[in-house]
Amino acid sequence: MTRLTVGWLYPDLMNIYGDRGNILTLLKRTKWRGYETQLIELPRGVTEGMDDVDVFFFGGGQDREQSLVYEDLLEHKQPLIERAVASGSMILAVCGGYQLLGHHYRTADGHEFPGIGLIDVHTDAGPGRMIGDVVVDIEGLGLDPPNLVGFENHSGRTFLGSKAAPLGRVRVGSGNNGEDGTEGCVQGAVIGTYLHGSLLPKNPQLADHLIGRALRRRGVESLSALDDAVELDAHARILERERQRRGPAARQRSR
Ligand code: GLN
Repeated sequence: MTRLTVGWLYPDLMNIYGDRGNILTLLKRTKWRGYETQLIELPRGVTEGMDDVDVFFFGGGQDREQSLVYEDLLEHKQPLIERAVASGSMILAVCGGYQLLGHHYRTADGHEFPGIGLIDVHTDAGPGRMIGDVVVDIEGLGLDPPNLVGFENHSGRTFLGSKAAPLGRVRVGSGNNGEDGTEGCVQGAVIGTYLHGSLLPKNPQLADHLIGRALRRRGVESLSALDDAVELDAHARILERERQRRGPAARQRSR
């Protein structure tokens, strides 16, 4: 029986603004297609089973929580994550998790947490927090609908290096840094984003992108369709609400 294994990095510390919903969505959408699933929790310390992981999830966390996990990430997780990614595992990282997969996260009070440099991004906290609903137009992943909706709350400003491509462009919200209009990043098997909410329940097309890519190494060529009427209705309501909020100009923009 084909099985999808989800690896949850630091579920006790890096899990805010409904991030747990991403785990439930990955497991449920896989089960609904008749595949087996397994969830491996990966707290601090030496952990077993990372080679089996098909999709890693790394949630968000305040500066305090990030200060409690970054050394463990470097010491115990980095080599195993790199090996798993090299063998086809996918990673979805949100906010604080996204930041620690990059080169560094520097807090507003000047503490620097080195990241594992798996993605070519760096993050420096700026004055004030970027908080609110976000709508992102997606480039390059072939998603339908080609946009994501979610919620952001971060002080970090993330800048992409030449090896990382933006996940998309913000239509609403600040995204990576509130300056260059980009949101998140895609580099190889890693997708980083500032979107909490949680992200995947209202964006099933991204969940299926991760599940589909991850199950390829288990010999699954394509995923069967699911009835996403409820999920896509929730998605569409957020888009409509944002259109209403931004008035006539926004209503020009279809979808
Ligand atoms: N502590 C980080 C920041 O403020 C990440 C916050 C988060 O994960 N929501 O930018």
